[in-house]
Amino acid sequence: MTKHNKYPNLFSPLDLGFTSIKNRVLMGSMHTGLEEAENGFPRLAAYFAERARGGVGMMITGGISPNMEGGFGAKLSTPEEAEDHKLVTKAVHDVDPDIKICMQILHAGPLAGTPSCVAPSAIPSRISRIVPLGLDEAGVQKQIDDHVQCAKMAQLAGYDGVEIIGSAGYLLSTFLVEKTNQRKDKWGGSYENRMRFPLEIMRRCRAEVGDKFILIFRIAAMDMLQGGMSWDEVVLLGKEMEKAGATIISTHFTWHESTVPTIATMVPRAAFAGVTGRLRKEIKIPTITSNRINMPDVAEQVLVDGHADIVSMARPMLADAELVNKAFEGREDEINTCIACNQACLDHTFTGKSVSCLVNPRAAHETLLNYTTVAKAKRIAVVGAGPAGMAYATVAAERGHKVTLYDGASEIGGQFNLAKKVPGKEEFYETLRYYKRMLEIYRVDVRLNTMVSASDLHKAKYDHVAVATGITPRVPDIQGIDHASVVSYIDVIRGNCEVGQRVAVMGAGGIGFDVSELIMHSGVSAALDKDVFAKEWGIDFENHPRGGVTGVQPEINKADRQVYLLQRKSTPVGRGLGKTTGWTHRISLAQRGVKMINGLEYQKIDDKGLHVTNNGIPDIIEVDTVVVCAGQLSNRSLYDEVVALGADASLIGGAFEAAELDAKAAINQASYLAAEV
Ligand code: FAD
Ligand code: NAP
Ligand code: SF4
Repeated sequence: MTKHNKYPNLFSPLDLGFTSIKNRVLMGSMHTGLEEAENGFPRLAAYFAERARGGVGMMITGGISPNMEGGFGAKLSTPEEAEDHKLVTKAVHDVDPDIKICMQILHAGPLAGTPSCVAPSAIPSRISRIVPLGLDEAGVQKQIDDHVQCAKMAQLAGYDGVEIIGSAGYLLSTFLVEKTNQRKDKWGGSYENRMRFPLEIMRRCRAEVGDKFILIFRIAAMDMLQGGMSWDEVVLLGKEMEKAGATIISTHFTWHESTVPTIATMVPRAAFAGVTGRLRKEIKIPTITSNRINMPDVAEQVLVDGHADIVSMARPMLADAELVNKAFEGREDEINTCIACNQACLDHTFTGKSVSCLVNPRAAHETLLNYTTVAKAKRIAVVGAGPAGMAYATVAAERGHKVTLYDGASEIGGQFNLAKKVPGKEEFYETLRYYKRMLEIYRVDVRLNTMVSASDLHKAKYDHVAVATGITPRVPDIQGIDHASVVSYIDVIRGNCEVGQRVAVMGAGGIGFDVSELIMHSGVSAALDKDVFAKEWGIDFENHPRGGVTGVQPEINKADRQVYLLQRKSTPVGRGLGKTTGWTHRISLAQRGVKMINGLEYQKIDDKGLHVTNNGIPDIIEVDTVVVCAGQLSNRSLYDEVVALGADASLIGGAFEAAELDAKAAINQASYLAAEV
């Protein structure tokens, strides 16, 4: 077989002895919410089939519980339940029988969140209020039996294998770690005893499913817990899993309760692959690495460096189902790159909403949102080339419409051109690169430096006008708001104004947080340098103390300033940020000494600073600069004008709704409307 020119490792098959995987790209496990949704399985089948057509070598489903106690989501323990799964396995194998699809068995243990959840000992997770029931001997045996039954049902459903998750703070991992396993019997105490439960599950599963079924064990190669697993324990578990019958070891990094980010956009690409590489040297079976590997060149490099045999790209497959084919065909500039924002995927999973993707609203909505070719092309004007306008223009043009995209600015992107400048948000450049390429491919007539008016549009006689003119920052009505010390976040991010030593950031929404991060930043962005990232978050990749973090003090590079991040609401500052990333921003700013104050009323701004009342008590926050990040107002006047002139028009993105409007909502709304125009 001839080697691929650019990605010879990525596009080489992997021999597993009894079968082989056609390339080294795995779509890692992600819960979509469709597993539990009514009629979710046909949608799930369409979702996986689309990724199968996209060229991936192996896929792992979202976690499926072996029983009710493990109840994170759907359960598989009966032949009737296996029938639903057959839709998925058939859809994938119909695309290509060589593509492997494995089901993840996920027993959430103490994180199941129900009063009947179980654990080795009655110890709650740091992030759950529920005290799990400590298992007795019969209970332990039942959990093992249920895992084995689940694996058998997965085999019956036509899966090529299962992945058993032994990390993240779910049941199997809680047996491994002393702080969650305080048992005195053969399942607790020594490490040999603590390993017994996951090993027994692997041994029994292997015995039941025969030797031609893929069994993957997902190990916490760095659990990011103070006092977590030592490196020797990780290696020993890997070796014992190999003896117990595992086909592949997949590495995972973190427990959900850890306070170190491992997948957020601030994490450097492939930061953890080296840890898998060290484990790979110790065991004979293939290894999978993961976390922040979002482009094919990064994946290839991981393989070249010998860090893994298979590269897991999970969220990148939500962002672009065609990623693998595009890499194979040298169309990397067409890849819609996952920016690791978590906004439409993990944040949705953990708030009970159906999963999608900020940059690709079709993800997990393949049967609902389709960009079908139109019978008769319309002439469409899109005004504003921010996320809403770019999404609308590309979808409408992909469908065959003749689209002209106007923007008053000299570059496409709208507010994403501000976002990309925030340290830790460098991935936003990729979204702009992607849209630039899509606008070329679909031959959108892009007119930059062109502020367009209603009469211009009227004269041009478009069939439809999509107004995506975005927002104007709100200027709060406060005495002294025109004082020389007051600046807008736009000028601060663009570097158009001086920012003093003592700064009040007025408004603690996403932009207030980003501005605080930017002005407290010093040196290289941690997202671009693994060593800086490791220092900032107290990770020791070299010596790998317990959990990778035990006893390691963070070392923060920070600017020499005092920043006050302020809000009027009495709720904790940052509560409105993303469920799975908000905490990282709060920790990052707290580590930089940013003082976050809630419950304020702003009185006036003068030479002394910002006068406030704090819970009714007057106070002065003595600052040199006040940065206004007080939300935004819609720019909708153009829409009103074009409608008054009789145009058929739509209003999208921030221009439609400024409050709480983010790029996820903007792209989603624009894509649905453009799919129908
Ligand atoms: P905009 O991006 O505001 O684009 C509007 C465009 O219209 C502009 O380019 C403007 O020049 C053009 N325009 C206006 N009037 C005219 C006219 N008459 N003629 C021609 N052109 C015109 N969102 C997230 O989801 N996640 C994040 O992490 C995130 N981070 C952010 C960080 C920062 C620092 C900022 C500022 C924003 C961030 N956002 C984030 C918000 C996100 O960028 C916005 O929600 C999104 O840009 C709104 O898209 P839009 O297309 O509606 O408007
Ligand atoms: P935002 O999240 O709505 O926050 C605006 C802030 O301004 C609030 O903290 C609000 O708090 C304050 N405010 C509102 N009216 C005010 C007034 N009249 N005077 C003083 N303060 C006032 O908006 P944003 O920060 O501008 O962000 C815009 C959008 O971009 C949001 O949808 C946001 O989600 C998105 N974004 C997301 C991220 C991300 O990481 N996901 C990052 C950046 C931006 P009080 O009223 O309590 O003072
Ligand atoms: Fe990636 Fe964000 Fe899409 Fe999730 S929502 S897949 S993190 S781009």
